[in-house]
Amino acid sequence: MHFFKYRAEELFAEDVPVKKLAEKYGTPLYIYSYRTLFRHFKAYDDAFNDYPHIICFAVKANPNPAVIRLFAKNGGGADIVSGGELFVALKSGVPVKKIVYAGVGKTEDEIRFALKSKILMFNVESERELREIDRVAGKMKTKAPVALRINPDIDPETHPYIATGMKKHKFGIPIEEALEYYRFASTLRNLTLVGVHKHIGSQITKISPFVDALKRVLILIDDLNEQGISIQYLDIGGGLGIPYRDEDPPVPKDLAKSLIPLLKGRGLTLIMEPGRSIVGNAGILVTKVLYLKTGEKKEFVIVDAGMNDLIRPSFYDAYHQILPVAKKRRKTVLCDVVGPICETGDFLARERELQKVEQGEYLAVMSAGAYGFSMSSNYNSRPRAAEVMVNGREHALIRVRETYSDLTNWNRIPKFLK
Ligand SMILES: *Cc1c(COP(=O)(O)O)cnc(C)c1O
Repeated sequence: MHFFKYRAEELFAEDVPVKKLAEKYGTPLYIYSYRTLFRHFKAYDDAFNDYPHIICFAVKANPNPAVIRLFAKNGGGADIVSGGELFVALKSGVPVKKIVYAGVGKTEDEIRFALKSKILMFNVESERELREIDRVAGKMKTKAPVALRINPDIDPETHPYIATGMKKHKFGIPIEEALEYYRFASTLRNLTLVGVHKHIGSQITKISPFVDALKRVLILIDDLNEQGISIQYLDIGGGLGIPYRDEDPPVPKDLAKSLIPLLKGRGLTLIMEPGRSIVGNAGILVTKVLYLKTGEKKEFVIVDAGMNDLIRPSFYDAYHQILPVAKKRRKTVLCDVVGPICETGDFLARERELQKVEQGEYLAVMSAGAYGFSMSSNYNSRPRAAEVMVNGREHALIRVRETYSDLTNWNRIPKFLK
């Protein structure tokens, strides 16, 4: 469910015509819907209402401070994977006691920053990292709250690039060895064992991988209890999918219905780390048709947004629906929607049946709110897009469009070239 809908023949973002926003702020333009973001966040919060929980939004899906703040103001926290994300989360007003920190490559500086900030917990991914956090905490004369990220060896049945919880992946600790790791961790003096973490992948469209993974982790928690290691936080990660095309993924309520019965009476606090399922369908990327080009085999619609703005089609072969901002009755044609970047892989859609669009008109790339702007780059020296948030009739710029001077601002010419 989202609030990007046609009214008569015109696409609206909530109560504002998308065309009006494109004209005011220029293109390529990311537009987010406040109401959609709020609704998706509440869907989690309400679904798990009966169980103590914290919804830690996965910042990497969309690190815009306005987006993060919206969740923070409604009781949300943050799941971070770098010092930069910690900085952004704190700046956006996320309470430190609702921040969890995952990632296989935390540096000493990042660990220090997180310890100094007093985050809720580190989700630790290896033995060496345990030792490092213990060492740094010792030097700082503090105790580090940690959870171990468990790799439960569950196939999430998603794109191989976004599956994370199988034996062949770099993430987490193999579940068979988990007990041993916890025992070892409990001997490190500057750590406090507070949780168990897992995150098995992204864009998961079934309930069963979540249930299977949780069952495995709960057996571990029972074993830990027997060993006298009692766990306070159970962090089940994120990963719920969204409809990009015709998928019919479960919603948070379905997840709650299957998971809460397994958790009843355990006295745990549940942590969830949804990213995509909250922001994915709450954002669109608006682009302008620059040229039409008739190839021998098909039409090319050349637009002003490229793989530098939205890399998912190129990177994951992801499908994004593309809608004309002005809907007219017209013929459809088979076409590739491509960007201006000098790469064959620069496309937003391939072999797509689209309304026969005209030069100069606007198109909306749907479901672009997650891993859209956050994965954008300056490739081909293209300034990054602007971002706007709409709330009812109101709209506000939440990230200024980059300019040409931003492109050279960080460069220095060495003396020997002057
Ligand atoms: C990416 C990531 C998430 C969010 O995944 P979504 O599929 O966007 O919900 C949550 N937790 C961790 C550890 C992640 O790396």
